[in-house]
Amino acid sequence: MDNSARFRTRAVHAGHGLDPATGAHAMPIYATSTFGYGDAARGQRLFAGEEQGHFYSRLSNPTVRAFEEKLASLEGTEDALAFASGMGAASAILLTLLRSGDEVAFLAPLYGGTEGLLQDMLPKFGIRVWEAKDPADLRGRLTDRTRLVWLETPSNPTLRLTDLREVADLAHGAGARLVVDNTFSTPYLTRPAEFGADLVMHSATKYLGGHGDVIGGVVAGDAATLLDLRLHGLRHVGASLGPFEAYLLLRGMKTLPLRMEAHCAGAHLIAERLAARGDLKVYYPGLPEHPGHDLARRQMSGRFGGIVSLDLGDFAAAQQFLDALQLFTQAVSLGDVESLSSHPASTTHQLLGEEVLNAHGIVPGLVRLSVGIEDPEDLWADIEQALRQARR
Ligand SMILES: *Cc1c(COP(=O)(O)O)cnc(C)c1O
Repeated sequence: MDNSARFRTRAVHAGHGLDPATGAHAMPIYATSTFGYGDAARGQRLFAGEEQGHFYSRLSNPTVRAFEEKLASLEGTEDALAFASGMGAASAILLTLLRSGDEVAFLAPLYGGTEGLLQDMLPKFGIRVWEAKDPADLRGRLTDRTRLVWLETPSNPTLRLTDLREVADLAHGAGARLVVDNTFSTPYLTRPAEFGADLVMHSATKYLGGHGDVIGGVVAGDAATLLDLRLHGLRHVGASLGPFEAYLLLRGMKTLPLRMEAHCAGAHLIAERLAARGDLKVYYPGLPEHPGHDLARRQMSGRFGGIVSLDLGDFAAAQQFLDALQLFTQAVSLGDVESLSSHPASTTHQLLGEEVLNAHGIVPGLVRLSVGIEDPEDLWADIEQALRQARR
């Protein structure tokens, strides 16, 4: 596949052509744990890394490889490496690139699982983890021990924007690498490597898969680092993506641009109409009053994502609103073709405790909507009737 083709073309074609063995047009699911070497000398060369080839599916598999190549093409990076989940990807990055005595900085808030992994697990291995409020806070505290800076933009669930170029320059100035969790934006909206990010990770469970039927993760970046991750974080920890899941992700990614257009258009319409009521606090980077709007315009391809959050004032109103919605399923996860809703303070972010929740703006009235690809007018009618039922 010619990598100069446009994004939508690469979403369809990158990573696979006709199957060389059979001519199959769709990517076959290579359901095999192991691969015959052919002869002993080739086995030796494969294990020595002198010859490239698949030999065990924990390390690589043709269906999984096609997914990796498609994602690398869309992120515009040299390579990509798949994992069994987003958390598997995050674990592999941390376990491969850090050692005792190192420091990791992150820009809060992060996805709850990532923050748990950083704060609960790494200190046990002698790695210091610290949280920065914003790039200015980061600037004064980076040390020569800081190896990684980790961030999400827009962040979950308040959709705060972070300037990738600014943080990449700060991190590089201190000799650290920038890791960006690009799950919320997807490469259709933001390609962090273009702004200096060293590694880009995804929960492929969300928009990349897009249909709520698969758990997966992926890291994109330079080939040397990803080889290191494959030979250590993947081989030794073993959170490997299976070929069936890779097939679903490949299939989902072909329509990523089309789905993202629909998610973004629906979310934008809903955010504008919610804001126009004037009685609710609405979080959406596409609204001119959003504090990150100008940055989002520069960093997000002129579209602003499929997540809208709103503050209904208190927990009771949020609860009534969520229970009254018909088209939005109350569930964790996001980025599915179906609309989903959640109450972060009482579910995904419950463990953070009230003080941290308030510091991050995750107030009791906050509801997060993952806007699906249903007709936005139907979604809006549902939201309006649910707002009428919510005690105000
Ligand atoms: C879901 C999610 C993760 C974790 O991914 P899993 O596939 O559930 O392991 C990490 N980061 C973000 C932003 C997410 O939304």
